[in-house]
Amino acid sequence: MTNQYNVVVIGSGAGGAPIANKLVAAGKSVLILEKGPLIDTQSGLGQGVSGFKRDELLSDGPEKILNLPSVSNHLSSYYHSHVEPDINDEPHIYRNKSGNDSATIEGYTAQVVGGGTQIYGGVSLRFTEIDLELKSFNDGRVIKSDPNDDIKREVRDWPVSYHQLEPYYAEAEEKVGINGTTANQQKRFSQNNYQQPLSANPISQYAHSGMIELGKRLGTNILPYRPPLAVITQDHPLSGRVVPTNPETAKTSYVNRYGDPLGLKSNTWVSLLKPIKDEAGFEIRCNCVVTHLNSTADRVDEVVYLDPAGVEQTVTADIVVVACSAIESVRLLKLSAVLDANFNQRINQNPLLGKYFLTHCFGGASAIMPGRFDKSIALDADYATDTCAVRSFLDDKGLWAGAAIYNNTSDSALPLALFRTHQAQDLDTLWHGFMNDLDMVGEGMIDFLDNEFGRRLSVSFMGNQVPLPDNRIELHPTVKDKLGRPVAYVIKSWHQHDRYLMDVMAEQCTNVLRYGGNDSHDFPVSPGGGIYQADNALARMANHILGGARFGDDEADSVLSPDCRAWYFDNLYVTDGSFMPTSGGANPTLTIQANSFRVADHLIGRL
Ligand SMILES: Cc1cc2nc3c(=O)[nH]c(=O)nc-3n(C[C@H](O)[C@H](O)[C@H](O)COP(=O)(O)OP(=O)(O)OC[C@H]3O[C@@H](n4cnc5c(N)ncnc54)[C@H](O)[C@@H]3O)c2cc1C
Repeated sequence: MTNQYNVVVIGSGAGGAPIANKLVAAGKSVLILEKGPLIDTQSGLGQGVSGFKRDELLSDGPEKILNLPSVSNHLSSYYHSHVEPDINDEPHIYRNKSGNDSATIEGYTAQVVGGGTQIYGGVSLRFTEIDLELKSFNDGRVIKSDPNDDIKREVRDWPVSYHQLEPYYAEAEEKVGINGTTANQQKRFSQNNYQQPLSANPISQYAHSGMIELGKRLGTNILPYRPPLAVITQDHPLSGRVVPTNPETAKTSYVNRYGDPLGLKSNTWVSLLKPIKDEAGFEIRCNCVVTHLNSTADRVDEVVYLDPAGVEQTVTADIVVVACSAIESVRLLKLSAVLDANFNQRINQNPLLGKYFLTHCFGGASAIMPGRFDKSIALDADYATDTCAVRSFLDDKGLWAGAAIYNNTSDSALPLALFRTHQAQDLDTLWHGFMNDLDMVGEGMIDFLDNEFGRRLSVSFMGNQVPLPDNRIELHPTVKDKLGRPVAYVIKSWHQHDRYLMDVMAEQCTNVLRYGGNDSHDFPVSPGGGIYQADNALARMANHILGGARFGDDEADSVLSPDCRAWYFDNLYVTDGSFMPTSGGANPTLTIQANSFRVADHLIGRL
């Protein structure tokens, strides 16, 4: 076993895997260190079963009790699934609205080879051109609900334009394996690398006609499209994956929140890493936790990790790429700074590491549709519209940035999901719905199932969150993980304009459902809302963990260079979602992947 590589990548998810894929193809030696296990597909294990347990949402293990006396939800009950850390071992702590610290599983994606892409919904939208230049875009504009001009002061353009990123979007779409349509998307495409979408679930017809009507009434006349989804519907020679004779069988509703035993969902293991697994230059070490980086002058000269037996090991590389997902990457860099004075002096040359942590403004509306539909035959989303991401809409509403709207076909599709998620948001509210919903017994339960099952349709938005320095990741001063290291402390709030944006966008989602093919609106639409209204709104992250190490042109105003190199280091790069200075008006993973392919080109040029 060698311990010297061209590149060591820490984390095998959206930010890490594209680097390995491209560098190995270019003949470089790459080691991935991944904290989680490899959970393979049915064919990968060759036993007719995959390593997934279908408990990614609902654990089949015993209920546990939180044992952290210093936090406000000490003694709460929780489950943890086999793809998450146990929060007794390694919690994320957030400051709740009462100003107390609480433990949460929020802010973890999945701790497994492939990271969050193993259990993601696969919605793979590009950001718009405006999303990458929100500072320039807002120059001279009137923005509502921002009395102190926070937005104009804090927002930054990306140091990379849409034009520069576009070829890498195309590369990611081709190599990852994504189905969808380009027509009606308000973004420029140099190539159409999408596979054919599968047929839409009939319940989504209401979202489709509602989106058409929304475009008309807003005066944009922008039409919906089939959203890009990271599920292959045709054979994918680049990854060697073959679809079943009837590709429609991919529609199981087990896409969002579950691992895919068939490997049709394009997580980074099946799409980018498995194809290179036998290459001489590639190695992946699973169940290995990187604990810190050691440095000399401007070079990281050792990556220190615990092997599966818990024994400390070190590796060295010309280039070190950190891609642990934003919170854990910031934590790893801060933990390294605590242990290594040189690292500390360089990474903290300016005080920005951890600041401008971002997630998304998100929320939506839902309605009970006429008829009952078999929603178990669905992928995550069937239709999307960019009608609320264009300048005329933003000017009309006084918004600083836009948002994508799409319907969630698979929401509440499975009884399992229905029960687990009824009014639940995360650990903090797991039993909330059932405990407070006293009608959920006997006839009440039957009525609930009768009304909801196969009938509820939700429409969601995903919008930019205002970047603020006070929204940040720190090391918690007292709570430690099972290894005795400080855990990540997530401190964030919603800006007044975020709340305004969420209200505006939730209203548009409500309108989609109200207009949805039915002028008399004879189906009940629940009032829409933004996540800021939730009980635990300060913990919520839409599973989108971004910012905290933003890239930029100015080394005094950013943590990373435009190539995602840590300023003041020669060989340290960060490529997970933490590089983003703004969070984009859409789900972020495709952009993380595209950016990693871009950084990979830069690294090939260096090595
Ligand atoms: C249920 C769910 C649904 C989602 N749906 C969508 C969607 O539809 N569309 C979308 O765009 N996004 C979606 N996301 C978000 C998506 O998963 C993330 O945006 C994406 O995975 C982030 O990429 P990343 O590289 O930043 O981190 P990740 O992909 O999470 O990769 C980080 C990896 O680093 C490993 N790691 C962490 N610390 C260490 C360490 N110290 N040592 C070694 N390894 C370490 C982790 O185990 C993990 O494998 C969803 C997420 C979830 C959880």
